[in-house]
Amino acid sequence: MKKKNLLLILILFAGLTNLSAQQIIAHRGYWKTEGSAQNSIESLMQADAIKAYGSEVDIWLSSDGVPVVNHDAEVTLNGNKLVVQDTPLETLTQVKLSNGESLPTVEKYLDAFAKCNNTKLIIEFKTHSSKEREDELARKVVDMVNQRNLQNRVEYISFGINLVQQVKKLAHQADVYYLNGDMTPQILSKMGLAGLDYHYNVLLKRPEWVKEAHDLGLKVNTWTVNKPEVIQQMIDLKVDFITTDEPLLVREIIQKQ
Ligand code: MG
Repeated sequence: MKKKNLLLILILFAGLTNLSAQQIIAHRGYWKTEGSAQNSIESLMQADAIKAYGSEVDIWLSSDGVPVVNHDAEVTLNGNKLVVQDTPLETLTQVKLSNGESLPTVEKYLDAFAKCNNTKLIIEFKTHSSKEREDELARKVVDMVNQRNLQNRVEYISFGINLVQQVKKLAHQADVYYLNGDMTPQILSKMGLAGLDYHYNVLLKRPEWVKEAHDLGLKVNTWTVNKPEVIQQMIDLKVDFITTDEPLLVREIIQKQ
């Protein structure tokens, strides 16, 4: 009788708490809200405020070796297009984001992140002109994270195979995901990565990779999922994380399951 009761409680508990519910990552922070902007410190604070699992951010190395936050390879300053990795910090920090913030350094971003209570930081390393520059960026950022004792709250992603390998070498315990969609879960597992973070079209074409990844103990993340029908498809595929510009919409759809 006691065993039966316990079983009933367990079944009820599993039903109430959707154990396999997807976690939400705010793509470039939560920026589709007032006063925010893509990759701004405010977008990180907003992602923390809505308790997203993660807040994603894109980073580059300036020409004088300082890690900075930006998505595109170029920025516009006084009507001129500048290549981020060929421009010194002093010039880059003059760039204003659409919400009026200055383009942030990674140091500033991490200092702001240290005050967050809920969200993790998902750092995307952009691919650079040489392996040396990528290695320098990876080394500097892993050091900054370690100095602030944020190792358990940061995950890393990249399209660059050199970058994911470098970061994994420098931060053995870190969760590192590969973005480029061209490697099987088996290969990523052998590389010691935490999983795959692929465009949803890759997963729709190779849905078996989700189960293969899970069988290998890997996690599956997918980007950038904004449309309700695709959000539903990714939930049905049982991915672990959904990276989105619409974190509240994704949450609403997950909660309806
Ligand atoms: Mg990104």
